[in-house]
Amino acid sequence: MTNSLNVAKFGGTSVGNYSAIKNCARIVINNPNTRIMVVSAASGVTNHLVTLANASLSNDEISDIVEKIRVIEFSILNELKYKQEVEDKLFTLLDNVNALARHEEINFRDDLKDELLSLGERMSSLLVAAVLREMDCNAVNFDIRKTMRTDSVFTAASPDLSEVGRLSQQLIAPIIQDSVIVTQGFVGADENGQTTTLGRGGSDFTAALLAEALSAETCEIWTDVIGVYTTDPRITDKARPLPELSFEEAAEMATFGAKVLHPATIEPALRKNVKVFVGSSKEPENGGTWIVKDCESRPSCRAVTRRRDQVLVTVKTPKMMYAQGFLEKVFSIIAKHKLSVDLITTSEIAISFTLDNPPNTISQKMNQDTLEELSSICEVSVDQDLDVVTVVGNNMHSEAGVSSRIFSAISDFNLRMICFGANVHNLSFVVAENDSDNIVRALHSSLFE
Ligand code: ADP
Ligand code: ASP
Ligand code: MG
Repeated sequence: MTNSLNVAKFGGTSVGNYSAIKNCARIVINNPNTRIMVVSAASGVTNHLVTLANASLSNDEISDIVEKIRVIEFSILNELKYKQEVEDKLFTLLDNVNALARHEEINFRDDLKDELLSLGERMSSLLVAAVLREMDCNAVNFDIRKTMRTDSVFTAASPDLSEVGRLSQQLIAPIIQDSVIVTQGFVGADENGQTTTLGRGGSDFTAALLAEALSAETCEIWTDVIGVYTTDPRITDKARPLPELSFEEAAEMATFGAKVLHPATIEPALRKNVKVFVGSSKEPENGGTWIVKDCESRPSCRAVTRRRDQVLVTVKTPKMMYAQGFLEKVFSIIAKHKLSVDLITTSEIAISFTLDNPPNTISQKMNQDTLEELSSICEVSVDQDLDVVTVVGNNMHSEAGVSSRIFSAISDFNLRMICFGANVHNLSFVVAENDSDNIVRALHSSLFE
């Protein structure tokens, strides 16, 4: 394979119905360098699967949700020219959804949850490959569990990079010599072959990992917006697409809530210097954002992001003044529970830090265990219903006037915590979730309009 290889990933809306899938197929067929197509589950399907996995539901409620999934998949199947090719396989996958949803331990076993969650991508990749074939593209549906080796942290698995590299070279590289593979984002398997998933939104990460493993030149993330914007276009219609971003800026934006990219996407790209493109599968002619190592401009403020579902934990000990090692104890408890702290401030007797707390996730559970253990060594208080708003840019700490402009834009709001200085690419605020839309709009208006 030449190093001009392109990996193209298509998100849920892009593969949500037959005509949307056709747009994706055209994008793939029009670029002969695209040999790997990574797809998400059709829009809405993963949310339904998450409900089946986590809520305790009556038989009728399960039937209703399974039926909703079946309708989405069948609306695609029924438009296919040669539907008999994939029909039986789709029926089997839907039967699996039904059986797992009714498994008596589904709400308690993360391995079963992952098996269930993986079915969204397994169904969409089957159907998308069939659409490519009817457009005369030599496409094969490839089971990513053969190469996406992960640990066994079900619902939030981490890839084993060297195994992913070795297996991709061994199993994918030969196929893409003369076929396009259509494979599942988000899904992996541990060393025992048990299905795992990479966490919500993880298909972007899959694409970047495959691009890294196969030394691709580019990795395209095709979604429902024409690039990465100055802020989430759902928060303000004044948001505008950015022609280019540096890896650092993009990583910062993704980490601090720009959902258009999964937070882990940039790391593999950075390691192998793979250029990442973000564009709209519906309007490919409108271009998009290039995320590259060296970009032409490095403005002090590039974008504003917002991350939801934050908890602010404050641990306090009157003994801290004397007790060296308190910080160490607190952080060793956090590390033991494998939590990552994002923002942190300290005073003489207290430390405040934020934790990600998305409902129904492994981090929510880990947070509870951590808080219980912290309570045994100090006073712990927890604030909920908070968001983090972040201004992302460059050299923010050394450019005169940047912080005063930012603070004066939001002087009317209560800021629960401020983090600035450690990272030259970001200034973050913890704010009440009810204020965050208005804070983002005020910052956007002052910095970019
Ligand atoms: P996909 O299903 O294709 O992975 P996502 O819904 O995960 O798509 O991501 C696309 C969405 O990300 C957009 O519709 C937009 O609302 C949201 N988003 C958040 N921040 C940004 C941003 N800075 N630029 C563009 N989109 C953003
Ligand atoms: N289907 C998964 C989700 O909705 C993964 C993805 O779309 O990236 O989270
Ligand atoms: Mg996404």
